[in-house]
Amino acid sequence: MSERQRVLATPLDQLLADARAIRDVQFGSRVTYSPKVFIPLTMLCRDKCGYCTFAQPPARLENPYLSAEQVLAIAKQGARMGCHEALFTLGERPELRYDVAKDWLNANGFDSTVHYLHDMAALVLKETGLLPHANAGALYKDELAMLRKVSPSQGMMIESLRDDLDCHRGAPDKEPQRRLDTLQWAGELNIPFTTGILVGIGETREDRIDALEAIATSHAKYGHVQEVIVQNFLPKPRTGMQHEAPCPEDEYLWSIAAARIILPSSIHLQAPPNLSDDFSILLDAGIDDWGGVSPVTADHVNPERPWPALDKLRTVTEAKGKSLAPRLTVYPEFVINPEKWFDPSLDFALMDRSDAEGLARDDSGQVWPEKVTAADVVHDGAEVVLVGHRSTQWYSGANNAPPMLIPFERMGEGEKITGPVAEVLRGVELGHRINEQEIVTLFGARGPEVRAIAHVADDLRKQIVGEEVTWVHNRNINYTNVCTFKCRFCGFSKGPLSLNLRGTPYLLTLDDIAERAKEAWDLGATEVTLQGGIHPDFDGDYYIDVTRAVKDAVPDMHVHGFTALEVTEGAKRLGESLFSYITRLKEAGLASLPGTAAEILDDDIRNIICSDKINTEEWLDCHQVAHEAGLKSNITIMFGSVEHPLSWAKHIVRTRALQEVTGGFTEFIPLPFVHMASPIYLQHKARRGPTFRETVLMHAIGRIAYRGLIDNVQVSWTKIGQEGAQQLLRAGCNDMGGTLMNENISRAAGANHGQLMTEESFRAIAEPLGRSLRQRTTTYGRPDREPPTRQAVAAL
Ligand code: SF4
Repeated sequence: MSERQRVLATPLDQLLADARAIRDVQFGSRVTYSPKVFIPLTMLCRDKCGYCTFAQPPARLENPYLSAEQVLAIAKQGARMGCHEALFTLGERPELRYDVAKDWLNANGFDSTVHYLHDMAALVLKETGLLPHANAGALYKDELAMLRKVSPSQGMMIESLRDDLDCHRGAPDKEPQRRLDTLQWAGELNIPFTTGILVGIGETREDRIDALEAIATSHAKYGHVQEVIVQNFLPKPRTGMQHEAPCPEDEYLWSIAAARIILPSSIHLQAPPNLSDDFSILLDAGIDDWGGVSPVTADHVNPERPWPALDKLRTVTEAKGKSLAPRLTVYPEFVINPEKWFDPSLDFALMDRSDAEGLARDDSGQVWPEKVTAADVVHDGAEVVLVGHRSTQWYSGANNAPPMLIPFERMGEGEKITGPVAEVLRGVELGHRINEQEIVTLFGARGPEVRAIAHVADDLRKQIVGEEVTWVHNRNINYTNVCTFKCRFCGFSKGPLSLNLRGTPYLLTLDDIAERAKEAWDLGATEVTLQGGIHPDFDGDYYIDVTRAVKDAVPDMHVHGFTALEVTEGAKRLGESLFSYITRLKEAGLASLPGTAAEILDDDIRNIICSDKINTEEWLDCHQVAHEAGLKSNITIMFGSVEHPLSWAKHIVRTRALQEVTGGFTEFIPLPFVHMASPIYLQHKARRGPTFRETVLMHAIGRIAYRGLIDNVQVSWTKIGQEGAQQLLRAGCNDMGGTLMNENISRAAGANHGQLMTEESFRAIAEPLGRSLRQRTTTYGRPDREPPTRQAVAAL
């Protein structure tokens, strides 16, 4: 029996179950939607379709086209509401039917409606960053190619391949071969393409299968069909089909399920939620996408059927055991493969709105293209300042408040999750150690899944380290910002060899360093953290001299110092073995390594962000040797610039494997990438750091993945801010890190959170959570020195 015969013969209930099973295997629990604003560029159309209320005669319209100002005003409203997509919908070639359209285009300097669409899409992209989706109907290849430069995706419904439908009698552009040609040309041009069928306009089930098979055939050749929309016919007043019956519900569900079974499983399947009274049943038929949902504009094609509010969409989706995720106008599979699918001029616009998976950034708030200008005064802070519209989403290091993802109240029984994330967590509860693929699965969590992961991490934290929140009284001494390396994320390094040509290079003397260490001790510090650029004049003895300078000034100070790069480079410059060099550092007084310079321990990513730095193997080697020499160290991960979750998982698994051998790591410190003044972001080659969801997950998954091996997970307050830190403390974290005093590195990348925390400010974060605060030493012991008196501190 052929697939067609099987689909036609299978009872509806079974067909729906089969479709759901395909969807669940392919897409797990995730259901997507695109937050969009609808821009009806022109409601004139040369076609007359029997079901359409979108197209209007010129007499009903004030102007044949929206003006550029009107287009921009709608788009800005969408950007202010947190949309990511500008959906351009328009009639087909109205200038071929109406003089008023032809004259308007001539008067405004455009050859055609498609040319005007091109310019308006470019305008919206430039001014608002919203990603255009051009829905311009049947186009010729040169038109598709022109729009590809300004519109990451394009769309055209196939509707039906029947050429004798009454509803299409007055619609030359609905001629099936025109539609198929457009679909094929889009494939030849590597355009992520949206298409679909209309159900209930006079076609049969066999006809629908014909259309679906044609789409599948085209996709098999080019891989370009990102989604198929299955849309139900509803009769509308003042249309040719106003007296026809609406598409019966069973027929509609059958068509959705048939599409899921006939189409390749990688193609997303969409049904609009606003065209069904109970849209939850669409999930039962196998869809994984709700399509564009606008918080701003009406559905101009179905104005009588408003979109459901986002909250309702989420409630309905989660009630079916699914999680809701916003996407861009293109799906992640395309976003993460830009060379093939996009004009290079669009790469940054896509990256700028996407998260690590290639979905839309999901923190609430506005995203505007960032415009910067050089700062008037540059000392050790950021060299650029933001101008123009301010984005209001949360970013690592920015002052914007994070969304509340981990509320104080735990989720109730009604929020039990199902699907792949739930399965991994079940394994965790049984004591399994999660592997690389399971870590990737957890990083895909959304909504209640994120809360579930945080709760598991929080329970582990309680079992392992109890209710104390720890902090260390330390001072950062960044002795030089001159560096021979060219890490593309680094806003700190200065000098002729770095990517930052402005700013003031500095090098502290050994006396300065000793003085700062002494001052820190007098203020109560138990640790100095030493790290800086790799100065061209340093040989390895410099680091030994710095360590000695601190220890000579303050013998009891814990020297926590030097990135794996500094240590490796120091040994290399002296031609000494790592073990011998680290042993000499230890003898000079070095007590532990901070674990920095790890960035992402995946060489494919290091080749992009820090190609001249030590590689993964060298970082791991350095720490292994340090552990063998008796020094403790930390694992850091700088995440959210260019990499995807698989790289995070590799990083965690690789460092965990080393910890199993040496046991020398004390804590896990996620460092969310601060994008604002980072060279790689200013060069338009990186994302805006992680989303807050990703940040929560990194800490919580770290707690879970390192269980039994690393007891401490630290919040980096310079990047997270106080409100965010409280949520992370409910997601597996137990440590707030250090007071820092003069932390320069995050600030140079544009972080706004201060340079100093005090015991009181740590207490203000921890105690409202019912957690006690405890000062610790670097290695999590109890400090054995008395804190300085208030008078002594005041005098300093
Ligand atoms: S991250 Fe470190 S090694 Fe890289 S450029 Fe900055 S200071 Fe130099």
